[in-house]
Amino acid sequence: MKRIADILACPKCRGELKREGERCKLKYPIVEGVPSLLIEEAKPLGE
Ligand SMILES: [Zn+2]
Repeated sequence: MKRIADILACPKCRGELKREGERCKLKYPIVEGVPSLLIEEAKPLGE
């Protein structure tokens, strides 16, 4: 069984979410165990 974070894709670049740090440098908040894939809620890495 795949973890949900393994099948979700970044809404911005369509990259694998688990590799997001290598792409658009955004971090999506995890809400109740599910990544929130709203660009408006994404935070830049390092903040
Ligand atoms: Zn991305």
